Amino acid sequence: MSADRRHPAGFWLETCGDDLTPRRPLPGDDVADVAIVGAGFTGLWTAYYLAKADPGLRIVVIEKDVAGWGASGRNGGWCSADLVSPPEVIASRYGTDAAVAMQHAMFATVPEIGRVCEAEDIDAHFVQGGSLKVATSSLAAERLRADLEASRSFGWTGDDRWWLDAGGSSERIAVEGCVAAAYTPHCAAVHPARLARGLARTVERLDVRIHEGTIARAIRPGRVRTELGTVRAGTVVRALEGATGSLRGHGRLLLAVHIHMGVTEPLPASFWETVGWREGETLSDVRPVFVYAQRTRDDRIALGLARGHPHPGSLTPTYVVPTASRALRASLSRLFPAAAGARIDSLWSGYIGMSRDWFPSVGLRDGIAWAGGYFGDGVSTANLAGRTLAELITDRETELSRLPWVGHRWRPWEPQPLALAGVGGFFSAMRWADAVESRTGRPSRLLGAVERLLPS
Ligand SMILES: Cc1cc2nc3c(=O)[nH]c(=O)nc-3n(C[C@H](O)[C@H](O)[C@H](O)COP(=O)(O)OP(=O)(O)OC[C@H]3O[C@@H](n4cnc5c(N)ncnc54)[C@H](O)[C@@H]3O)c2cc1C
Repeated sequence: MSADRRHPAGFWLETCGDDLTPRRPLPGDDVADVAIVGAGFTGLWTAYYLAKADPGLRIVVIEKDVAGWGASGRNGGWCSADLVSPPEVIASRYGTDAAVAMQHAMFATVPEIGRVCEAEDIDAHFVQGGSLKVATSSLAAERLRADLEASRSFGWTGDDRWWLDAGGSSERIAVEGCVAAAYTPHCAAVHPARLARGLARTVERLDVRIHEGTIARAIRPGRVRTELGTVRAGTVVRALEGATGSLRGHGRLLLAVHIHMGVTEPLPASFWETVGWREGETLSDVRPVFVYAQRTRDDRIALGLARGHPHPGSLTPTYVVPTASRALRASLSRLFPAAAGARIDSLWSGYIGMSRDWFPSVGLRDGIAWAGGYFGDGVSTANLAGRTLAELITDRETELSRLPWVGHRWRPWEPQPLALAGVGGFFSAMRWADAVESRTGRPSRLLGAVERLLPS
């Protein structure tokens, strides 16, 4: 297989319970109705809903490594109703009704993933236990309150997200120094690699052909050129997210940004008795560089940090920056001092796709379909994308195909090295602002300046 075995695949892929030996590569030139490039969540969900909508369709999936080897098998497992583009940004471009419709579609996506897991017998450890966002300073609490109030204009009611005081929050998860929190039921925790691998097996049962170990080099209307042959197809689906730039002529569409995750050793019962965390909630905090975490089925904490590292070289999803481990450990100790000495059993990275305007997009034009630009919110969004693409490809119009991200056109990134320098500067500024705010307790002026520069 072309997956790089010198580096860790990460905890999720290593514990997915599936044989990662690649499926049969493309045997040569081929013909299909739909050729999907990329076997992550986007490609697999698209294959799933297409096969369900029209069992007669000949669907082929082309995958460079193995299904789930990209971000889909390496993420935080937050199956949330969050979108990379905040509702106010969607509203400013497409109107408030469109922003509300998008939010409602995301709310519905979380249980939809649970429904398919149940219906198709995919044991992805799906638990819709909601999500707790904790503030550990008065500055963070102010921001959380403002965010909660702003969301009320965009489809979030008091039943969708509510305020908890420190006591209410600690009853769910006892986070050190918690001042207040917001809780939403619209989030599930999943084992992402089990979901990706289970989906791959499911679509194969529906007669979708998956060819692994097959690198696509170029796509054009009506064909996918790979190193092993050309697939001719009525529709070609580009489902590569952070690896989109590996296709000829696509280098400025989505920028690959590496992010890291780690997982602790299993923590003892005494730790969980004090901390709680019994309902399968996902957990985050409110900081410029925030933490996202879940409790795993085997009692570990899997956590990541919103720290990105744009990487100019290879897209091997195994680029681990030396400071990642220290940063994760510092966050773990801050939130849970009792876990400060816990061993980090696995540390890995993956890359996500960042569009120039921070807006996700899905669409179909001239025989080429696409979806991506989810940034760090692709677990649920890729399912919504798959359902939408299946509708567009089979020419069925419903409210999904009228959502504001459908057909959204990305502005290309600046040529390199400008784009990398800009994104690298953004993440450095966020780290700097995080350090300043935690030292002074006051809003960082740098953060304000960066926020004014973000696309709106
Ligand atoms: C560390 C990390 C944590 C994250 N945490 C979360 C989270 O908690 N919640 C959330 O919602 N989102 C999260 N994300 C983002 C989420 O994982 C992604 O948005 C989502 O998985 C993207 O799915 P995809 O199918 O579009 O892309 P991918 O999963 O990257 O799939 C693309 C596939 O294409 C294959 N490929 C690449 N190049 C080629 C080629 N030339 N030819 C053929 N195949 C190719 C790759 O091997 C890969 O399998 C996280 C991402 C990372 C990296």
